[in-house]
Amino acid sequence: MEEQLREMLVAYGRRLVESGLVQGTWGNISVRLDERYMLTTPSGLDYMRLTPDDMVKVEISTLEYEGAIRPTSEKGLHAAIYQGRSDVGAVIHTHAKYCSVFAAARKDMPVLDDFRSIFGDVIRLAPYALAGSKALMKNTAAALGDNFGAIMASHGMVACGRDLEEAFENCVRMEENGRRQLL
Ligand code: 13P
Ligand code: ZN
Repeated sequence: MEEQLREMLVAYGRRLVESGLVQGTWGNISVRLDERYMLTTPSGLDYMRLTPDDMVKVEISTLEYEGAIRPTSEKGLHAAIYQGRSDVGAVIHTHAKYCSVFAAARKDMPVLDDFRSIFGDVIRLAPYALAGSKALMKNTAAALGDNFGAIMASHGMVACGRDLEEAFENCVRMEENGRRQLL
């Protein structure tokens, strides 16, 4: 189970790069392992070079981890979402282009008809806070509420789902929604 999820994190990291949703080493992915732990991508490493062993097992309630590889600096954001949402099994944070336009403009993202069954009428904007900070995790978890995505002011976006496939699809949907809203 854990080994399979590590492999899936590697695969979805590649899919994010191939879909143009992440740039360089930015962004991060996690999956809920069990009630106590999540697996996250490491901080600042190239998605195309990651191996299953590079994924870090982090305790959700304490953010503690073992080993020499540092988990994502946004581990607190991922953990806050798992703590508030028992229905969420995977979280993706990116700085995807069209979502980032809404983030830079500090605007809620209105949702097109096609995506309303998932996101409702609006994907909310979380007020600005420093990357990796406690304020960022609080603001973003609050803006997410019971939705499957949020915009992070002057930073990027977060999408979640029951599993990695759904979180990835929601990430793609948010970016497509943003693109169509802007063009
Ligand atoms: P990590 O490389 O630590 O995951 O951080 C990237 C990022 O997007 C910070 O907000
Ligand atoms: Zn970020």
